[in-house]
Amino acid sequence: MASNKTPNLGLDIWQPEDFFKRAEVNNNFTKIDAKSKENSDRIGDLSKKSYEENKKGTSPFYGNDIPMFSIIDDDITTRFLDISKPLLDARGIKVSLAAITNRVGTSGYLTKEQLLQLQKENHEIVSHTTNHANIYNSDTSTDAEIEASLRDSQNWLIENGFNGYDTVVYPYGAVNARAKKLVAKYYKNGVRSSGDDIKTFPFDNLQIPRKGIRANEDFTTVLKPIIDSCIANKGWLIFLTHSGDTNEINTNNLTQALDYVLSKGGVFLPFGEAYKYKGNALSIGDFTSSNKLFMSNNGNLTGLDSLPNLVPGSLLTTANAIDNARSTYQDGKVTVSRVATGASGAINEGGVLITSSTDQYYTYQTFITQTRMFTRRWDTSTNTWKAWVEYVTTDKLTQDVNKTLVTGTNTKTMDDPLTAYTQWKETIVMIAADKDTFKGQGGVMKVTRLDQYYSYATFKPSQENVIYVRKWNVGTSSWGSWGV
Ligand SMILES: [Zn+2]
Repeated sequence: MASNKTPNLGLDIWQPEDFFKRAEVNNNFTKIDAKSKENSDRIGDLSKKSYEENKKGTSPFYGNDIPMFSIIDDDITTRFLDISKPLLDARGIKVSLAAITNRVGTSGYLTKEQLLQLQKENHEIVSHTTNHANIYNSDTSTDAEIEASLRDSQNWLIENGFNGYDTVVYPYGAVNARAKKLVAKYYKNGVRSSGDDIKTFPFDNLQIPRKGIRANEDFTTVLKPIIDSCIANKGWLIFLTHSGDTNEINTNNLTQALDYVLSKGGVFLPFGEAYKYKGNALSIGDFTSSNKLFMSNNGNLTGLDSLPNLVPGSLLTTANAIDNARSTYQDGKVTVSRVATGASGAINEGGVLITSSTDQYYTYQTFITQTRMFTRRWDTSTNTWKAWVEYVTTDKLTQDVNKTLVTGTNTKTMDDPLTAYTQWKETIVMIAADKDTFKGQGGVMKVTRLDQYYSYATFKPSQENVIYVRKWNVGTSSWGSWGV
């Protein structure tokens, strides 16, 4: 027998004078072995939990390409179990329930145990505030009052193990700018009670629309077109149901809506699950302000005011691809394309094409080759690009000037033939005295070479204030005499 035990597992600690049986040693090993299994099981559980948590944050972009349907049933009345749940169960549909947390377990409302059971069956419980007070679109409510109803309701959900704690459904569907700011302190998503399907992504995650399923509205003319639109646009339609309201939900009208969606191949997921597919991957700032950045799961971006709006264009290689129509470029963006020589049309040089497309009246292009630069704008009357206008660069200007101004004293004679000068240019030459065959004093000669019939030269001798002129003689291919 051991005199002492270890504090945690109660293993034997033998003193030198203690006797022991071999079985006692085995007993210790058994305890250690059992504990080891227990610990490794817990590590498995923890890593599974951490995996599930991480998964919540991922954005499955492929999911954005299918239409999606969700149902949020408001107020957690017991009638949900009587009317809605059997119809949902029969179709394998999981929904979200918006819980007024102070009413849980009170007369006519579901109990915490019933809500936990629903969550266990993969329904989702989200917040509908503590008390359903109509204060979110009110100027008389205080910040403290609004915050308490949001915060306490969320705390209740978290403390009782409900997963939908980052979504609140506004009582009466209303929220104003001030309340929205307070909501954002606690919740990721805020849901309204009106609106149709979500067609554009990303969207305002604090003003998420819902369309009610209502017995007093005609299915064919009211709800059906919205369901069809959601399917056609691959949108997200969140239905509002009030199971507790006999004017809104009965077996017939709920069945009709559910079966129509299913007949069209629509997929139902609880709000939080659907959000992983259709929700924003990024929601920064207030969606209604210009100072924001929102991104959908498939990469649509909104609120780019502060970001450069550049689009990398492709390499254009087919003949005259430089003249591709304005519609091939994105409006509101600057597209930078590379253009191969063969695709550059008359310019016949490779380069970089920058297309700045706003609307048709304000769209222009710049094309830069290795040494030249062009610009042109879109012609709204012909729906084609106008002719290129070439920028004259300082380099080009210098080249042009050098062609006409011969710097330094001319080494040639005064009587070099017309062909010694560049055509369509005026060449200004300084003639040295010993090259001056006319006055022998030197001066400034300007040769204007057009075609051979219209070419002439002027000469201002250095010692006289007179300008002499002579013309090119086509018959003799020589200069005529100088005259005044
Ligand atoms: Zn409500």
